[in-house]
Amino acid sequence: MAYGYSGKILVVDLSSGVHQEQELSDIMIKRYVGGRGWGSLLLGEMVSRGTEPLRPGNSLLFLTGPITGTPAPGGSKYVVVTKSPVSGGFCDSYSSGRLALEMKAAGYDGIAIKGKAKEPSVLSINDRKIEILPARDLWGQDTFQTETFLKGKFGEDSGTACIGPAGENLVAFASINSDYFRQAARGGVGAVMGSKNLKAVVVRGTGGVRCYDGRRLVEMVKEYKARLTGSDQAQRRMKYGTPLTLNITNSLGMLPTRNFQESVFPEATGEIDGDGFLKNVIRHRGCIGCLIACSKISRVEKGEFAGDTLEGPEYETLAMLGSNLGVANRAAVIRANLVCDRLGLDTISAGNALGFLMECFEKGFMRGWPKIDRELKFGDYRFGIELLHRIAYRRGIGDLLADGVRLAARKIGQGAEDFAMQTKGLEFPAYDPRAGYGIALAYAVSPRGACHRRAWPPRIELLGNLPPDTIEGKPEIVKEMFDENAIFHSLLVCDFPCKMAPLKVKDFAEYLQVISGIPFSESDLWSLADRTETRIRLFNLREGLRRAEDTLPRRIFEEALPGGPRKGARIHREQFERMLKSYYRLRGWDEEGIPLPETLQKLALPSSEDYSFPGKT
Ligand code: SF4
Repeated sequence: MAYGYSGKILVVDLSSGVHQEQELSDIMIKRYVGGRGWGSLLLGEMVSRGTEPLRPGNSLLFLTGPITGTPAPGGSKYVVVTKSPVSGGFCDSYSSGRLALEMKAAGYDGIAIKGKAKEPSVLSINDRKIEILPARDLWGQDTFQTETFLKGKFGEDSGTACIGPAGENLVAFASINSDYFRQAARGGVGAVMGSKNLKAVVVRGTGGVRCYDGRRLVEMVKEYKARLTGSDQAQRRMKYGTPLTLNITNSLGMLPTRNFQESVFPEATGEIDGDGFLKNVIRHRGCIGCLIACSKISRVEKGEFAGDTLEGPEYETLAMLGSNLGVANRAAVIRANLVCDRLGLDTISAGNALGFLMECFEKGFMRGWPKIDRELKFGDYRFGIELLHRIAYRRGIGDLLADGVRLAARKIGQGAEDFAMQTKGLEFPAYDPRAGYGIALAYAVSPRGACHRRAWPPRIELLGNLPPDTIEGKPEIVKEMFDENAIFHSLLVCDFPCKMAPLKVKDFAEYLQVISGIPFSESDLWSLADRTETRIRLFNLREGLRRAEDTLPRRIFEEALPGGPRKGARIHREQFERMLKSYYRLRGWDEEGIPLPETLQKLALPSSEDYSFPGKT
């Protein structure tokens, strides 16, 4: 077995209670490397076409990569891959925590979970001892209570992943939590875990990760440390964490405000921006082994939420539970963040869903809707926080939002779909896509739905040298960013240190060689990215997601931004369609987004006959 890998995926069938080990094949290592790459390969093999995401036929994969557990930058991440109950397509959701390291230490590069347990259960992995333990008493507990129980029973140094009430109640934006404050949150992964009656996974291992050339690895980490010291961007991230992004998005006119009706929020200044955020920070914290330590512990000292303490909030949360709801109250955002973490809710989708409901009330769409005891207005953080509980427990109006904004809008009707801010059912994160054509394209073509992690075009469109209002060069930068991200998320490393040091793909090709002992080149990694993204496209096509899903809500095309630096900006449909075609062409897909036979051949992917999808001739 190559160095860096443990060499096995543990496959657990919760229905039968049987488990087995699957050896990593040469193809898995050399063509797909790890993380997202493996997810693209395994999900299509393990999940049959047309499987309902919340039925036992779906699989839930926890995957690491060759760099996980080594001293290489950002190497304590894992990814959860499944068929999404939100989009019906491929979902990859990233988190970090001790779980990733313990999986490797226990001898597994990944855990693939199939079937459904007969009763609420915990999957316990102690080196090679695998047990499915009954957990009726834990069902109903929030994530903090669950984690505290697990740490007490299995040891403080166990790696854990658990769901809260939102996952148990199959909320479409339920998260999987690790180390209390780390979430694989996007795409409904927590609901899939809940559908399997799986409350938690707990892993302990006594092994380690073998590196091919440990001496060179230590040298490389020293060089990386020196780069961080010399990088202003890294220093700023160390001081402020991600919240400084709010200063940027607000000043550039792309900060979601009142459900994306506006894109600037002056009240944010000094309250929920980077400087405001620092007032509550009591200490810095990082993922295990990370030199940047971009996480911050915040504490509210006075007022109605005095005593609230949490790791965060991150930028996305400040924006989606702050400006997007018209809330300029930092302590209220901290409380809402804490409530989401405990209930196991994605803060991005939760903020998006509340903003959507606020606008529905504002427009009078909720008149006559049953079980409404009170109107939800922009800025009303108290009722907003109360509604988070109702969503997690599917009570009253909370039940309407619990299936996500796309389905909620369909039920509400009256044109509400026009301002349900989602793509493929996944709620928009905290960047208004009207700010630049690159952002719009990145949201539209992201296979898991609107995604801020695969590409961040504002770096070039608003802070760089490509104008935001033109489509020239946008398909190229979106493809390059997607591919770079596919590499980092296959290896599986945090993409922040990569961007801040900065570290390039060629640096990671060397890390991979030094760790695995396999001569990977930079171009091997770019091919891996192309192969992975096309394989994910094949999965989505097989599940019925076609070109029509690569789009944006009507608001983005027809309502220009009303003020701020990007006043008047909107995405013109004709330009968007041209950009989409160019993107497909760059990927080697036809005008409908279907990979061409020569592309499949070049990437060593199965032919379309082997990977058939509806409508393909
Ligand atoms: S940069 Fe931040 S998110 Fe990334 S590994 Fe370090 S602490 Fe974790």
